[in-house]
This record gives sequence, C-alpha cells and structure tokens, in this order.
Amino acid sequence: MPFAPPRFLLDVHLGALARRLRLVGVDTAYSNDLDDDTLVAMANEQRRALLTQDRRLLHRRALEAGAFVHGQDPDEQLRDVLDRFAPPLAPWSRCTACNGRLAPVAKEAVDHLLEPGTRATYDVFARCRACGRVYWPGAHHTRLAEIVRTAQTVVAAAE
Ligand SMILES: [Zn+2]
Repeated sequence: MPFAPPRFLLDVHLGALARRLRLVGVDTAYSNDLDDDTLVAMANEQRRALLTQDRRLLHRRALEAGAFVHGQDPDEQLRDVLDRFAPPLAPWSRCTACNGRLAPVAKEAVDHLLEPGTRATYDVFARCRACGRVYWPGAHHTRLAEIVRTAQTVVAAAE
C-alpha cells in the first residue's frame, strides 16, 4: 500500500461501501457520477487507492494505486477492504454523506434543525464541518454499531 494511512477513492458503484468506510472513520472519497478518466486522475492527484470491481479500470497504466474489491454485498466488501488494508479506525468521526470530519455540537446549536421527536429523545449531537449535516445516535444506531463492532474485529485480526 503506497499511501499510509490508507486513503481511498471508490468507484461509482460502491456507494454503500463508501458509507460504511466513512462510518468507521476511513478517509473515503466517493461520487456516483465520475467517469473512468476522472477516477484515475483524482486517485493519483489525491494520493488515494482506487477501489473498484472493474478489472479493466485497474489495468489502466496511469493508475498509481488501486485494488479489486471482493464481495457482492457491502458488508462483505467492507470486510474484504479492512482485512487487506487494516486501516486505523475512528468510528463515528466522519460524515457518511460527504467524508467531512464530525465535531461535537451542543444541542442548543442545532435545535432548530431537529424534528420534535428527535429533539425530545436525544441529547448528544455531532455536526459535519464540511456539509453541516447533523448526526445523533438515532433509529439505525444498533445496526451501525454492529457494523462498527465487526469492523474493529476484522482490523484487529488483520494487524
Ligand atoms: Zn458532511
């Protein structure tokens, strides 16, 4: 792996994997509308390994670093990437929508952005420094926490 700690750019079909990698705190660039030339240029320029399931793309001579992602569903794919690259994890530190860093934020500061049900139920919030999206341990938390736990187990075993 030429870039340490590992940083990734994901191919357009790997959006669900991108959200999972961000959830566990791995620096992951992703957009669903990049063509192959742009993917290669962006990976090189930003010093990211391009992850894809398109072998032809990996054979591009200009590409400096890339890897094939094994697995059909995003959980398998996550396991594959973590197992091979063992990136340092920092769960709940990145925005799953844009890859920005999350910072804790006071409830009063985001109060006006919350639905009444959320406002009544939760007290711990974080906000993305890049896009402003607000996060709290909501309805999907159990499922997400399970993804994080599995990721930590895989990386611990791979180290
Ligand atoms: Zn964001």
